[in-house]
Amino acid sequence: MPIATVNPATGETVRTYEAHTPDEVERRIAAAYETFLTYRTTSFAERSRLLRRAAELLDEDREDIARTMTIEMGKPLAAARAEAAKCAKAMRWYADHAEALLADEHPAEADVRDAGADAARVLYRPLGPVLAVMPWNFPLWQVVRFAAPALMAGNTGLLKHASNVPQTALYLGELFHRAGFPEGCFQTLLIGSGAVEAVLRDPRVAAATLTGSEPAGRSVAAVAGDEVKKTVLELGGSDPYIVMASADVERAAETAVTARAQNNGQSCIAAKRFIVHADVYDSFAERFTAGMAALTVGDPMADGTDIGPLATEQGRRDLEELVDDAVAKGAEVLCGGGRPEDRTAGWFYRPTVLAGITPEMRIHQEEAFGPVATLYRVAGIDEAVAVANDTPFGLSSNVWTLDDADVERFVRDLQAGGVFVNGMTASHPALPFGGVKRSGYGRELSGHGIREFCNTTTVWRR
Ligand code: NAP
Repeated sequence: MPIATVNPATGETVRTYEAHTPDEVERRIAAAYETFLTYRTTSFAERSRLLRRAAELLDEDREDIARTMTIEMGKPLAAARAEAAKCAKAMRWYADHAEALLADEHPAEADVRDAGADAARVLYRPLGPVLAVMPWNFPLWQVVRFAAPALMAGNTGLLKHASNVPQTALYLGELFHRAGFPEGCFQTLLIGSGAVEAVLRDPRVAAATLTGSEPAGRSVAAVAGDEVKKTVLELGGSDPYIVMASADVERAAETAVTARAQNNGQSCIAAKRFIVHADVYDSFAERFTAGMAALTVGDPMADGTDIGPLATEQGRRDLEELVDDAVAKGAEVLCGGGRPEDRTAGWFYRPTVLAGITPEMRIHQEEAFGPVATLYRVAGIDEAVAVANDTPFGLSSNVWTLDDADVERFVRDLQAGGVFVNGMTASHPALPFGGVKRSGYGRELSGHGIREFCNTTTVWRR
């Protein structure tokens, strides 16, 4: 994949970039390592000051960077502005909380004595340069949710961003530099995916985090495993959205439209499979389909656009194949099902709802990365849980019910890293984020996220 900005709303190549040469990559790895040796000893107060400055700069740059994101990957401009604001908020959250989250821990005195020590404590020390391989779908947020805790913990970062968002990638490297972080603290590597292995195998690179597809995760984890380096993987999802008979169906259907269509349908935590109790199925299906069909598809720069283009031509092709396969095997198209007729340029796809899904259809097992929803009718909670778990993924889940016993059952049995009740999944700096099964492992955000790239160190003293 060339490193280039290609506007997905028009298909026009806006700008192409040369990849960094091996010498330039070497220079940046060396800088990340050399900087780490001193940056690791800086105080939390100093790191907080720098991160707050980065948040201020990001607030000032919001309009420009939002436009860049929309040109590079097609999300509606309002959503791009909201993403930039969310990043600044996360930076401030970690600036406020990192010191407490990484405070030394003191085991109980009796245990210390039992371990044969006069004193013992546990501390969280940084690991070193961390390689971050990131996707284009939230081109600022995916990076910041790694970078803010990593920098607060005293690590340095090397960003290999998706090849279709080079301007956002370069902006991020400059942002941390402008904020005053020492050179080498956070750098962008303009490299293709084929150059990732060499970086990861470099002995100065301590660990890696990857957000992206399952094949990319598998490939990076295999190399990291071979090198015995820590990884965090945030991969795909096909989150269930379960609506039980007791639910507020109107609110559930309204929220379902946002949960499926956010970010042009290209979110790992978007609800993708809508599993509805037979008693409320017709009512939900009618409202949800009407809501999806009413979304405005169009120019992502224009006010009032709900759905812009898919980010890449290949992404639209993959989505079309999933829908066509389902339809060929008997799925019913309740709305959408193809490209909008009034848009010949760009990679648009109409919001689509499919019913009558069967296990033979690829879309039952694979992630639909675009505005396509699948509907399932279930007879009760046992079937709802079974259908929800019948997927290789396990990122998050959404359940709508007013019954406490249902809630407990879902919390106990859903195979996912989150259970959101009477609402839709959304990330927040204070809440851990991540999945199980093929959605990956490890957690981002909260105290769990910041400790992923720390050396948990036991100090035992007599
Ligand atoms: P992708 O194709 O896997 O790309 C993600 C990143 O990995 C890019 O930087 C890509 O570089 C790189 N990459 C791809 N193959 C690689 C390989 N073999 N070795 C090393 N690096 C490799 O994913 P995407 O299309 O950008 O993003 C969509 C996917 O990400 C979806 O499956 C979505 O669910 C998932 N996602 C997950 C989360 C989460 O938090 N769990 C969040 C967002 C997205 P190039 O661009 O140069 O190929």
